[in-house]
This record gives sequence, structure tokens and C-alpha cells, in this order.
Amino acid sequence: MQRLSSWIAGEWRDGAGDGSRLYNPTSEEVVALASTEGLNLGQAFDYARDLGGQALRKMTFAERGALLKAMAKAIHAEREALIDIGRINAGNTRGDAKFDIDGASGTLMYYAKLGAALGERRTLIDGDPIQIGGARLQGQHILSSKPGVAVHINAFNFPAWGLAEKAACAILAGMPVISKPATSTAYMTWAMVRALSAVDSLPDGVLSLVCGSAYDLLDHIEWPDVVAFTGGAETADRIRRHPRVLQTAAALNIEADSLNSTVLSPGAKDLTYDAFIRDVALEMTQKAGQKCTATRRILVPSDKVDEFVEDIAERLDRITVGDPGADGVHMGPLATATQLKSAQSGIHELMQDADLVYGSLDRGAIKGVADECGYFLSPLVLQARDSASAKSIHELEVFGPVSTILPYDGSVEMACELIQKGQGGLVASVYADERDFLAQSIDGLAPWSGRVVLTDAKIAEQAYAPGMALPHLLHGGPGRAGGGEELGGTRGMRFYQQRTAIQGNGPLINKFLQATDAD
Ligand code: NAP
Repeated sequence: MQRLSSWIAGEWRDGAGDGSRLYNPTSEEVVALASTEGLNLGQAFDYARDLGGQALRKMTFAERGALLKAMAKAIHAEREALIDIGRINAGNTRGDAKFDIDGASGTLMYYAKLGAALGERRTLIDGDPIQIGGARLQGQHILSSKPGVAVHINAFNFPAWGLAEKAACAILAGMPVISKPATSTAYMTWAMVRALSAVDSLPDGVLSLVCGSAYDLLDHIEWPDVVAFTGGAETADRIRRHPRVLQTAAALNIEADSLNSTVLSPGAKDLTYDAFIRDVALEMTQKAGQKCTATRRILVPSDKVDEFVEDIAERLDRITVGDPGADGVHMGPLATATQLKSAQSGIHELMQDADLVYGSLDRGAIKGVADECGYFLSPLVLQARDSASAKSIHELEVFGPVSTILPYDGSVEMACELIQKGQGGLVASVYADERDFLAQSIDGLAPWSGRVVLTDAKIAEQAYAPGMALPHLLHGGPGRAGGGEELGGTRGMRFYQQRTAIQGNGPLINKFLQATDAD
């Protein structure tokens, strides 16, 4: 049985006892154990602050970028082994695991290139000098690395990308990282960090791993540490109210639940409509719908609902659910028994406001798996009885291959009003060929969304599905989605940087800033 140790103060350490069991969600066998019981997590903070932070702050952006590149390569070198771990501990098909692992190395590589482009400097100049009085009297904003530790707490659904997308921003910005993956799928993160720990150019203390429950992790927060969290809204609330987080006013970035929506306009051309069907099916079934950005609400003009149901059914009929290691399987199980139970009870709640129009509540045929074994749920499409008053559809995120159709009158106003009922989300997408519809949907959706994805016939064939978070663009969203921001190129680094206005003799300040960078 693999024991997942934690990487703390430069050593791999085991917690006491057996700790938590990690399962294979296909066979229900235990595949690993993880315990943090009794670990001195305070040492991880000291080590990260004393060694990791100091080392990173001495490095230029270009040097930090080179480090990220080496980290990306180390993950890529372990790709096949990691894919196998994704299968046995997260129920990932090969495609699901690649999405996570290649997303991790790709994001690190993107930030590596950004580091190279930022060059031989350690602070960033934020905007132009500002004249504040007489000729030489100026102010200049700068961004410097926060001299603390970045604590990253991640959700179960992206054990590889979750670590990398946060760590890439923090390390390039100059902050050392203590990463805590969700315990249930931590096997992949552990294997990935084992590979990263062998990277020669990784300075001591830049990356630490806590494998197992959070234990007293947050009790060690000091100012100016920061905490970035991804997970459910209830855990987010507990973290927001944690005494050390409150006492130290630690900066907090929260990525939580989201009821992402997609809209089909009345005038969408064939190419646009085909992309809509393609993307709805992908978002429902990739990682068995366990993506924070997966589509939960599908807005379709009322007079097109029957056609849509027929076409999405035809697509979903092609999805074989089963053992993710078996040939021809497109979708594996949910990651844990708890996730399955929670999805099943959520579906019953949604059905107070909606009817099932595709799929069956019975688990149906599961390829390559014995009866009743594994945490399987087949794709389900529901249809709201009354889109505006379907409270549960706008409030409850069922984290699985489940989406609900919301028929609407075809007006952009009603589409936006329905989406707004989700109270803030990560992503909303619109498939339309009417220019007015697309333009007005920006106004109606942008204040409520982290990302708005517009697809028309001209880009339909090349467009990414809306659930794909890209390192170039912001990831995060307002309201229910937690109010956080990650990625987005240099924007994702802001959370780890202090913005300061330097005020005085402008030309002299300018010289100082250039000299600091050249040191
Ligand atoms: P979760 O149960 O909230 O757990 C998230 C993380 O918090 C895990 O690492 C968990 O550790 C840790 N945690 C739990 N209690 C804690 C505490 N008291 N102090 C510190 N850390 C604590 O969420 P999940 O089940 O892993 O993920 C599912 C949810 O994540 C979904 O609701 C989904 O919407 C959301 N999600 C959001 C995004 C986004 O970007 N917005 C992305 C992915 C997922 P243990 O595992 O050890 O309990």
C-alpha cells in the first residue's frame, strides 16, 4: 500500500497512524494512505520563509521562468506514470488525465515564457510615472514579491493542474508555496511533487507538500502569507472565518462553486449550433462532469428544445461509461463514494424543479465493471418546468455529468436574467450569429462572470469549449464563484505582489528602479 508522505522542510515525512484512505473509484479498492497527524507544519512555513522566499526573491523573472520550465519538463517526463495514477485514484480516462497533467505542464510552460519575457528584473513597474507637482515631483507604482508564504489548498478534481496553476503564478511572482491537495485524489499530486523534488534547480523551500487533512496548517499563517483556496463554498466559509486568517488579514483568494451557463441564440447558424451540441456534450462528460467550469445550465429557445434534446441525446448515446482503463470507455466514475452520494441527492433536489429528459437514475450499463461496484453515474439531462422560478437549478451545483435545460423566450434580456440568477459564476458562454445578441450579452453577463465565451459560425470549429481554463485569461468569478482571480498572465501574479507607490524625485526614482533590476 502506497503511503503518501508530505514534503516538509526539505524532507519527506509521514504522519502518524494510517490517516485517510484513498480509493480506486472503479474497483473501490484502497490504493494509498495519507496522514498529516502530528506533523510539524510550522517547520514547513519557517523553511519556506527562510530559504524558499529568500532564494526566489534573489532570482530575476527570467531565472524564475527557467525554474518553471524545468518543473514543466519534470512533470512531462512522468506523464505516463501520472496518467496511470489518475486512472486508479481519480477514475480518469486517459483523456481526462492528460487534460489535468498536460494542463499542469502547459501552464508552467506558459508562465516560464512569461518569466523570460519579463527578463532580468525582480520588481515590476506598474504604469507610467505620474506627475504630482513641480517638474521633478513624481510618483511611480511598483509591484514587489510579498515576503511570506503562499498557502495553496486545492479541490479533488484537478490534482495536477490545481497545484501547477497556482504555483506557476506564485513562484514567478517570487513567493514560495505550500500546497495541500484534496486528500481523496492526492496520489497524483504526491507523485508529481516527488518528480519536482528531483529538479536540481529548485531551491530548498520553494515548494512544500502537505498530503492528508489540513490538520493545523492555517494556525501557522503570519502576515504577509497569502491563502489561495479552491473547493466547496462551505469549506471556503470556514477558511474565511479562520482566526489566523482574520487576525493576520492574510490575503485570501477563493474559487468556489459555480452554476456555469451556456446560451443558444434563436438565430445560431448550423456551424454554431453544432459547436453548441459538441461543447455541451464535452462539458457534461469530461472528467465525468467534475469540473468547476462544467456547464450546469443550458439555455435553449423554447421552440428549439425538442430538437436540442434529440441532438444532445444522440451525442450522449455515443458515450460509453465504464472502467477508465478499458478500451472504448469515454467516461469513468465519480472520484469518491461521497461525491456520488452528494450528486445523487443533488439530482433529487433538482428534480423538484425539473424533469429528466435524457438518461436514467439507475446506473445502467457500465463497461468492464462488476455489478454495483464503483462510483458510477451516467450522463443526465433535465429540463426545468419553469425556468425563472426553478430555484434549485439556479442555486445547487451538482458536481457530476448532470445539466439542466432552461427554456427561454429567445431574447437576450431573458437569457441574461436567467444566468444572473446563479449569483455570479466562473464562465458563461453564448452561441449566436446575431451581432446584437452577442454584443448585448457582454453587457448582461460580464459583471456576473469571470469569463464570457462568445462563439459564432466564423470561429465555431476552432473555438475551445468554455470549460477550458487558459493560462492567458483570468480564471475565477464573482459572487457564488468565490470572488477570486487566478491565471490571466501577469494578472494572476498580482495576488502574490505588493503594490507600492514610490513618491519623490522622479528621475532619481527611475534610476533607482533600473539599478535594482540590474543588480
Ligand atoms: P472541499 O471539500 O471544499 O475541499 C477543498 C479543499 O479544502 C481540500 O483540499 C480539503 O482537504 C480542504 N479542506 C477541507 N476542510 C478544510 C479546513 N478546515 N481547513 C483547510 N482546508 C480544508 O472541496 P472538494 O470536494 O475537494 O471540491 C469540490 C468543490 O470544489 C466543488 O464544489 C467545486 O465547485 C469546487 N471547485 C471549484 C473550482 C474553481 O476554480 N472555482 C475548481 C474546482 C473545484 P481534504 O480533502 O483533506 O478534506
